[in-house]
Amino acid sequence: MVEPNQSSIYGETLDSLKEKLTEAGHPAFRAGQIMQWLYKKRVARWDEMTNLAKPLRLWLDQRFSLLPSKILLDKKASDVTDKLLIEYGDRSLVETVVIRAPMVGVGQENARKTICVSSQVGCAYACRFCASGLAGFKRDLDTSEIVSQLIHASRALELEDPHAAKEDQVAFDNIVMMGMGEPLSNYENVVPALKILNSEWGMHFGARRITLSTSGLVPQIRQLADEPLNLRLAISLHGATNEVRRKIMPINRKYPLEELIPAIEYFRERNGRMVTLEYILIEGINDSIEQAEELSKIARQLHAHVNCIPYNTVQGLQWKRPSLNRQRVFVNILKRQSVSVTIRREKGHDIDAACGQLRLKEEQERGNYVHVR
Ligand code: SAH
Repeated sequence: MVEPNQSSIYGETLDSLKEKLTEAGHPAFRAGQIMQWLYKKRVARWDEMTNLAKPLRLWLDQRFSLLPSKILLDKKASDVTDKLLIEYGDRSLVETVVIRAPMVGVGQENARKTICVSSQVGCAYACRFCASGLAGFKRDLDTSEIVSQLIHASRALELEDPHAAKEDQVAFDNIVMMGMGEPLSNYENVVPALKILNSEWGMHFGARRITLSTSGLVPQIRQLADEPLNLRLAISLHGATNEVRRKIMPINRKYPLEELIPAIEYFRERNGRMVTLEYILIEGINDSIEQAEELSKIARQLHAHVNCIPYNTVQGLQWKRPSLNRQRVFVNILKRQSVSVTIRREKGHDIDAACGQLRLKEEQERGNYVHVR
């Protein structure tokens, strides 16, 4: 039972847990053991923490919740994507997606797995092409709700294949903050969560394997650049001029390209990593030759990689993806300018795996759907 005064253990750091243990008269060193059970063994119950004395387990049970969220739906799309729909105590819904990248000559069970994590319930940024913005913003996720999505994901993969996790490692290879929400507008919960995932006592997951994607919040990009976290950064660009970007991303009015580009440059200088520019191809909106040329200039200036993503149709929105030929023409212009570019292979179209789509459906069925535009 989750008592109202309980907080989730997944929001604790080693130090904060030590402090709480000491205050309650338990030895501080127990904190390290508890973290081991949480992040290395990923246990579901306190009584599985067998090296802890019973009174301590009892105290933990009263003081903290372990996994207050539940998996509402574990939807398997194909052999490349599954989607977990997680419900929190307040009935908020959040999506966590498992994406498997097939590898040539290797069985699907060995494919690299990427977990796409949500940072908010809904989203306030209202990008015109995105399902998350359609239902508006509900709330920020707290640190523990972000961290526990990764625990759920690893456990789901381990359930499917008991050998999925090696030794003390989790059962996936990459984390992308590309699920629902704008991670940088929930900086105070997202960054601590990433620190827990990255820390040695926590998940010990390499920062090089974590990518944060943002619609372009300039002050927070600069703040993130100054963090001791060596994350990868992806920018949802989707328009190579203010005129085009403004039409589909309202955030561009607040932070136009002349502010965004220097912030990305600053991040790259501080962080030393190549930044990725994400560019959804939408027919007749941003797929012109001129946009490809402008995009090439930006990418070259920033030494950035460009990831073109053919638009994923969202029910209720009128946008379309360009023809394969048009996609090729666009990408070839970038290649000719020696820009490092990839075009994303489609994953999860059949389960509505793009940002916010699954939740939107569930909310519509529940009757909670509010159209804000
Ligand atoms: N708010 C953050 C992260 C969430 S969106 C951001 O904007 O980056 C994650 C990625 O999914 C973004 O690049 C977003 O533009 C993209 N996306 C959203 N809707 C999509 C759709 N219908 N088809 C393809 N990509 C989509």
